[in-house]
Amino acid sequence: MMDLHREIIKTGKLMVKQGLVASTWGNISVKLSDDEILVTPSGMEYSKLKPSDLVLVNLEGQILEGCRKPSSELPLHLAFYKYRKDINAVVHTHSIYASAYAALRKPIPPLIEDMAMVIGGPVNVASYALPGTKELAQNAVEALGDKGAVLLANHGVIGVGSTLAEAYKACLLAEKTAHISLAAQIMGEPVALNSEEVKIMREAYLTSYGQK
Ligand code: 13P
Ligand code: ZN
Repeated sequence: MMDLHREIIKTGKLMVKQGLVASTWGNISVKLSDDEILVTPSGMEYSKLKPSDLVLVNLEGQILEGCRKPSSELPLHLAFYKYRKDINAVVHTHSIYASAYAALRKPIPPLIEDMAMVIGGPVNVASYALPGTKELAQNAVEALGDKGAVLLANHGVIGVGSTLAEAYKACLLAEKTAHISLAAQIMGEPVALNSEEVKIMREAYLTSYGQK
């Protein structure tokens, strides 16, 4: 269990190092069992986090272990676990280019193979709601559908996955694709992959890609 605490803290530090969040923003959670979620504390620097700062909660958000206040986006994290049983980890970032799309309230198009595989289509934008609200959580799960990532209007990115590494990868690839999209639009008119192509790549990623 302590290994998982360390993995969450390591991922938090990586989010800062890779420029996906600034300072204390963003948050991470991992599902340990059907009714146990380990989540980062609210407003603490990732570089200073100790395993005991993480908070164990149930699916209703009640604290089971830990003395810190859990992330203010806990309702959002819990909504994803309730919505899809295949989700075991949720990562929330405020990365620059993806957030530009979130400010425009425009989806990030499926332009590139890696993103098509991991996210499975455009990164859609959830209708605007204030941070930390149940309304934001509801809007986010609705916009996520069966994909690996979703944008929060005027806010940032959520990546989900069967593991913490997958959820983090979804955030990273949403950001990379948003960046590519901007570069491609400066150079010309990017062509997005069509839904059939994306479907084939997504299927390949889930069933045969890598060392399966
Ligand atoms: P917390 O520090 O409470 O997790 O909130 C950060 C954030 O990104 C809010 O949307
Ligand atoms: Zn946020």
